[in-house]
Amino acid sequence: MTLADLERELSYGDAPESPKPVLEWLDRHGRVFGHWIAGTWVHEGPIFTTSDPSTNQELAKVHAADAMVVNQAVAAAQEALTGWQALSGFDRGRYLYAIGRLVQKHSRLLAVLESLDNGKPIRESRDLDVPLVARHFTHHAGWAQLLESEHPDFEPVGVCGQIIPWNFPLLMLAWKIAPALACGNTVVLKPAELTPLTAVAFAEICEEAGLPLGVVNIVQGGGETGRLIVDHAGIQKVAFTGSTEVGREIRRRTAGSKKTLSLELGGKSPYIVFPDADIDSAVEGLVDAIWFNQGQVCCAGSRLLVQEGIAARFHTKLKARMQKLRVGSPLDKAIDIGAIVSPEQRCRIEELIETGAREGGEVWRSSVDLPTGGCFLAPTLITGVSPSSTVAQQEIFGPVLVSMTFRTPDEAVELANNTAYGLAASVWSQDIDTALDISKRLHAGTVWINSTNLFDAASGFGGYKESGFGREGGREGLFAYLKPRPRTLEPDTDSSARRPAIDRTLKLFVGGKQVRPDSGYSEEVEGYAVPVGNRKDIRNAVESASAAAKPWAAKSGHERSQILQFLGENLIQRRDSFAAAPTEVDRAAEEAFFWAAWADKYDGLVHSTPGKFVTLAMNEPYGVTAIVADGGGSLVGLIRTTCAALAMGNTVVMVPSRDRPLPAFDLVQVMEISDIPSGCWNLVSGPTAELAEQLAQHEGVDAMWCFESSVAEVVENQSAGNLKPTWVADHVGWPASVFLRQATRVKNIWVPYGA
Ligand code: NAP
Ligand code: MG
Repeated sequence: MTLADLERELSYGDAPESPKPVLEWLDRHGRVFGHWIAGTWVHEGPIFTTSDPSTNQELAKVHAADAMVVNQAVAAAQEALTGWQALSGFDRGRYLYAIGRLVQKHSRLLAVLESLDNGKPIRESRDLDVPLVARHFTHHAGWAQLLESEHPDFEPVGVCGQIIPWNFPLLMLAWKIAPALACGNTVVLKPAELTPLTAVAFAEICEEAGLPLGVVNIVQGGGETGRLIVDHAGIQKVAFTGSTEVGREIRRRTAGSKKTLSLELGGKSPYIVFPDADIDSAVEGLVDAIWFNQGQVCCAGSRLLVQEGIAARFHTKLKARMQKLRVGSPLDKAIDIGAIVSPEQRCRIEELIETGAREGGEVWRSSVDLPTGGCFLAPTLITGVSPSSTVAQQEIFGPVLVSMTFRTPDEAVELANNTAYGLAASVWSQDIDTALDISKRLHAGTVWINSTNLFDAASGFGGYKESGFGREGGREGLFAYLKPRPRTLEPDTDSSARRPAIDRTLKLFVGGKQVRPDSGYSEEVEGYAVPVGNRKDIRNAVESASAAAKPWAAKSGHERSQILQFLGENLIQRRDSFAAAPTEVDRAAEEAFFWAAWADKYDGLVHSTPGKFVTLAMNEPYGVTAIVADGGGSLVGLIRTTCAALAMGNTVVMVPSRDRPLPAFDLVQVMEISDIPSGCWNLVSGPTAELAEQLAQHEGVDAMWCFESSVAEVVENQSAGNLKPTWVADHVGWPASVFLRQATRVKNIWVPYGA
């Protein structure tokens, strides 16, 4: 071959990273691993094996934790709590810092071990996974120190059970352990059965850092071990990353247990290309979006939405690029795509590709050479699918891109949001108006403008809708590992004390109108005939709250503020016609003005992420919020819950306290004369458990608050359908910050700059 030939071909030679230090490490352990509990290695439980998916060769044997082992680990974590919390934030931070430094020191071993166990390219484990792991620990070392001054009203939750998947084994471990420890919790963590090894190396790092024993405990095993952790009574919080299906199961299993829960689940994230995008960059970005980690990324840009006019040109360029992607040994530094994690997973992906073809999609695979003997798959593109087809809706979790076209920006948004998921999205346009407008309208926890798959410890990550709830990273991520300090409450005023003996037919309030209950029934409470609502009334109320949600959210904070101020004014004006004592009405009015004040002041943040990005953390409303038992029937509680939700741009379906519903009917009078648009606040009285269950099941309800502990279990259990976040609390006396956070979710928008 002449030099000219070589230049034309520009082919790569092999550039293998040596597995030797890792193989020696495995041998030193006799290739058998156990659990790390209170600083001791416990070799108990049945054996499973883990292998290298690029060769299907066994790497090691591992013990799976049974109930006894899990008990032991939870006990160790409980015992370590007091000592860990007694340390100053600075001292806790120093351990996290030491761990971060040791991750850097052992980065080569960790990267090679991860690539061997998982099949991901060394280029990714070395340049992305491991540096981000170190970053998470050093970043949260800082939070440990700042916690007391920044969040004085909060305390750690306790022992955290953490369950992680196989796609980013060490990185997911870091996302879980770093914030938990920074906030003063101790943990029991279970890696995925397919990738147990880097967690072992991490335990050794904890040992080297001198971390107090029992603060971190690692138990190995599969789904059964996961269940034991989820069900364990000694655990106060469950943090899970994995499939939506298992997330749902965990929601149901923990219902009513008082365990707090965060779920980071699947996705089907859109990658939207407008005609004014920098097309070459968008094609290159797509390589990172869907072929990073073989497409086994929860936020992979797996749905390409490209404007019709440029689609043909875009697909041609994309296919040309796909032909150049190199699939090969994960330890080869010059490959783009490594091995799928396991033969079963590879099979699952193949099946979905076949389904795509069967349903009319055109399947195109790049004709790259695949190594033999391992779990390899060629990069694949499926075009010509309908938005409702299986491959356009279901997560494939592999190197398969599905492409659809759109005509207008509105159609792009509609297609993008046409999914049960809401994890992430990419928007490609050189027009700043288009890019930001579309970002705002997407239902996704993270939006990357002209970029993709960016992560940092300073920015929160997490889903909308069935992609789960809770955030990891950023200031917002800390609240997954904190709870408000208990408060002593002011006594409730007895609202019924002064009820004037006026004859009033009470009605439900739906869509801005007083309406009779569908059942026609009422029940007598404190001498009044209180309507008994049913499923149909709930359906109507949710429908009108849904219709009102978009325009209400679209109002500026300033507008919402003025409307709530007017509500407060009307409360004062009518103070003598209320059942509650005038002083209580005054307090309720003050409460309304308080939330009116917040309506235009609960600002988002600009996160300080590396690189040339402005990362906007915007607080967005959920939409329809169902509120059950407004805080025990006090007018102040009713106004607090109502106005907190409304102020942040949510609409409300309220089920009043069954024993003391009358303040809510008083409020109807005020709602009618205030400027709150129809449908923004709806009232359905009746049997609490039944109505709460219907609201929890309702797909149109986006979030739910419940202040009646007897129905907490029903609410949490039934919410598993659309995985709406639920807030169950036994009173309404929380600080404003808790309400503000419950009324909003954070969307992080990464905006690049640079001329
Ligand atoms: P998975 O089956 O849900 O497993 C996740 C973890 O849960 C594993 O450790 C698994 O154990 C364990 N587990 C399985 N069944 C359980 C149960 N009934 N109770 C408690 N724990 C249980 O998901 P996967 O197949 O490993 O991972 C792929 C999925 O995870 C994809 O859908 C992807 O989108 C999602 N994911 C989401 C994120 C995110 O941040 N949102 C990140 C990564 C992955 P074993 O695997 O050991 O059996
Ligand atoms: Mg493995």
